[in-house]
Amino acid sequence: MKKKVVVLGSTGSIGKATLRVIDEQKDRFEVLGLSCKENVKTLNEQIERFRPRYVCVFDENKKRLIKGKGFKILLGLDGLKEMIHAGPDIVVNALPGSTGLIPTMEALKIGTVLALANKESVVMAGRIVREYLEKYKAKLIPVDSEHSALYQLLKTVNRDEVKSIILTASGGPFKDFSKDQLKKVRPADALKHPIWKMGKKITLDSATLMNKGLEVIEARWLFGFDVDRIKVLIHPESILHGLLELIDESFMAYMAYPDMMIPISYALNQEERHAISLPKLGIDSAMKLTFYPPDVDRFPALKLAYEALKEGDSAQITLNTSNEVVSTAFLENKIRFTDIPVIIERVLERHPKKEIILDLESVWEIYHWAKGYTEELLRKGY
Ligand code: MG
Repeated sequence: MKKKVVVLGSTGSIGKATLRVIDEQKDRFEVLGLSCKENVKTLNEQIERFRPRYVCVFDENKKRLIKGKGFKILLGLDGLKEMIHAGPDIVVNALPGSTGLIPTMEALKIGTVLALANKESVVMAGRIVREYLEKYKAKLIPVDSEHSALYQLLKTVNRDEVKSIILTASGGPFKDFSKDQLKKVRPADALKHPIWKMGKKITLDSATLMNKGLEVIEARWLFGFDVDRIKVLIHPESILHGLLELIDESFMAYMAYPDMMIPISYALNQEERHAISLPKLGIDSAMKLTFYPPDVDRFPALKLAYEALKEGDSAQITLNTSNEVVSTAFLENKIRFTDIPVIIERVLERHPKKEIILDLESVWEIYHWAKGYTEELLRKGY
């Protein structure tokens, strides 16, 4: 029996990579549902190729542009929920940002396999995600490349053998920039990632290192290690995705060609490995791998994420929300690149602190406060 897959965010980079995996592994998977925000042109091509039973668009005005028949058209968040409840074996959540939170929780509630690329939902509600996993007997397999690496590595050792878990970061396009150079960075520069081709939000987050900060928080909730046992290393080649530092002074590392099809295939196949047509990593030719510690002086977003993780749940929600608002402002040319962490820090200083948050209403309450306050700072000056 083929596994039925729902792909949320099918026209984004992770969504497209997911469909490439499904296309190669047609004997194992069929597409039950596809969803996108507004890119109906790509969606129509995907509908023709994968024949889903459900299609969801976020923007209601785009409904009339959807071509083809034999499927139900759904709209907005309610549409996403209906699709998640239509009986998939696997839900791939590849939505960008906090819009991914509700679908993550819905997928966990039905006890399905959640292949999760949306790190923001774990950053905002990690504690509740953990509770749902237990309560609804759901399964979450991370798609984020570093977390997929750590997930696979952690299966091979006893937890008490692990000193720390290490996530690698490419360092983004500005890794060698001075503080002065960073001040002059423009949106177009920040949207050019040296290794990965991804959506706008995550590409900018990679340039500020906020992406790694969010991933540190994601790792905390997925793997349950304390903040001082989660480390980050800059590794520009993006070949080693995750490492374990072990108690006997040894390390275990996971290497892979930097293409999201690998972690996606591993998640879709529920921790089974299958052949994928990708270029070879080529470790038999000369290969140099470099590692160095991140510079939080030039890239304070990473430091802010660590502090938010120490401070508690409300700080993590605030960090994520404020980052979304200021990132948009930067991409709209309203603030400088170096203002991004400055504003987030101001918002964190003022936010209503609550260490433990156990319900989604409180998550959204803090989200709305952080969004409002960040917007206010952007209007009034900071
Ligand atoms: Mg990642």
